[in-house]
Amino acid sequence: MDQSPPTPAGPAQRTAPLVLLAAAQAALRAKLHLELERAGWRVALAADAAAALSALERLEPDALVLGPADADPAALAACASLRRRGAPRVVLLLTAQGDTAAIERAFDVGATEFAALPLGGVELALRLRFALRGVAAAASPEPAGESALSPGPSEIGGLLSQLRVAMEQSAAKGRHAAVLCAELVRFKELTAGQGEDACEALLADVARRLRVGIRDHDVLARLGCAAADVRFARLRGDEFCVMLRDVQDPSDVAKVGQRILDLMAEPFVVGGRETCLAVSIGIACFPDLALSAEGLLEAAEKAAYCAKQERAAVPLYYTPALDHRAAKRLALEVDLRHALERGQFALHYQPQVEIQSGRIVGAEALVRWFHPERGRISPLEFVPLAEETGLIVPLGEWILREACRQNKSWQQAGFAPLRISVNLSPVQFRQPGLFESVERVLQETGLDARWLEFEITETLFMSRLDAAIAQLKRFRDMGVHLSVDDFGTGYSSLSYLKRLPLDTIKIDQSFIRELATSSADSALVTAIILMCRSLKLSVVAEGVETRSQLALLRILQCDQIQGYLVSRPVPAEEFAGLLSGAVPQAFAA
Ligand code: C2E
Ligand code: MG
Ligand code: MG
Repeated sequence: MDQSPPTPAGPAQRTAPLVLLAAAQAALRAKLHLELERAGWRVALAADAAAALSALERLEPDALVLGPADADPAALAACASLRRRGAPRVVLLLTAQGDTAAIERAFDVGATEFAALPLGGVELALRLRFALRGVAAAASPEPAGESALSPGPSEIGGLLSQLRVAMEQSAAKGRHAAVLCAELVRFKELTAGQGEDACEALLADVARRLRVGIRDHDVLARLGCAAADVRFARLRGDEFCVMLRDVQDPSDVAKVGQRILDLMAEPFVVGGRETCLAVSIGIACFPDLALSAEGLLEAAEKAAYCAKQERAAVPLYYTPALDHRAAKRLALEVDLRHALERGQFALHYQPQVEIQSGRIVGAEALVRWFHPERGRISPLEFVPLAEETGLIVPLGEWILREACRQNKSWQQAGFAPLRISVNLSPVQFRQPGLFESVERVLQETGLDARWLEFEITETLFMSRLDAAIAQLKRFRDMGVHLSVDDFGTGYSSLSYLKRLPLDTIKIDQSFIRELATSSADSALVTAIILMCRSLKLSVVAEGVETRSQLALLRILQCDQIQGYLVSRPVPAEEFAGLLSGAVPQAFAA
């Protein structure tokens, strides 16, 4: 990007003012670029002040942003030469904090504004807007509503022929060509009930960020687009594709992928609320893979698919071994379909202990799959697979029935009643008829609803909050308890807490792990517990493994703990043993 001439890289919003951004540091430039565009500006990029100057006449921007002065010595000189060129109305110099000398000289030589770093793009956008308004009656930029994807129909053919050219030309120069596929994870879930417009706006935002992450000459195309030079490919609605040419080293493509992942890591706004969107990236390189254009595209898609399945946090390169991995997954899926009827699932139970008394007051039911050849498979591996295939619905019903039956039978055996916690997948939650099926199970097993608790995750509230509230209220009215699992790992807004009929918050184990050693984690846990107190929610700390964690949680007045310190999840018979035992050892004085 740095060597290429500046071009307006923003969304085609002709009415929005244009800012030429010549921030000398690439990371700063990318960040400001993104945020300025989000604030509705068209943005043209230049690698430095010198490049910006040579583009001024061609672009005629409304505003010019230069600097920071200490990183780009030419920035000040550029200001000086602006007078001779008919400067943009607003010339803003970025400076290091406290660099008053630079500020003074900048004004001397023609800058109209300055801003000290660190500086957020939102703040910069506001500054520019006010500066522009001061200079002339410039219309404030409307939020960029237009999709960064060019509209109009086209087919895969155009995309592939561009790819062929890129492959040939790159190979002739002894370089590589590559396809990078970016798949959005849980896109449908996140946009459920949001309507076409919100989905399109979100996809446009994604496209804009992708655009920021790649070089100008990287070819992007969109399936369903006619123009030969369209730059984004949206393959299947929630899938994007970038074609790179003249790549020196195949490992560079992963760097592009990583940049895209970083850009996507910032929250998106869907239906007025901030939310995070996970992206999986697959890469296929030519001639490293001796494939046709079709083959290359397909390979990148497969890699993205695998990355998505495996929840990879980094871009995944296609290799033939991925086919093997995908085939193995498929076999697992087939096995999973039969596992229920073959009786390969079992529930294990992990005690939840009241800190004050050391008494076991609850048990979390955790599903286990005993595969005849592969042995025990973690729910972290098969629950997502069951969710994708819909098998979680019958499996979830089996889990619920088994957990309720077991709890009832402990009660009948004379143990003091305890609450059984059952994890409820968002897929189950959205299933029509869930409520009826819960009623049926309770009736059939004879368990009183107050001895059942559902653990739900924050993802449930990310879309359709009102529907979720209504559904949860029905459970609440029935007498079932509700807790939020893995609290702190998902949704960033806390405002939902007071709107939902909740009983318990389970602090995620990632906060508990470093509780005794990290002041940040202990501050967070303290805040969560205080907040729950004022909202009259009880708090369970998950993943408690050490006595020092317990000691701290006791001081912080956490209500309950769950973790290896007391017991791992164990089969029902062993759990009965825990129930008949004395106070768990960890609590013994
Ligand atoms: P979760 O609901 O947050 O369950 C807690 C997980 O933490 C369990 O892993 C448990 O074994 C583990 N754990 C408990 N104490 C400790 C500790 O002290 N240290 C550490 N390192 N880990 C601890 P598990 O059983 O592998 O389950 C993983 C996840 O799979 C669960 O997280 C839950 O999201 C899902 N899952 C498990 N069973 C079910 C189920 O029946 N239905 C659904 N929908 N999901 C389930
Ligand atoms: Mg749980
Ligand atoms: Mg949890």
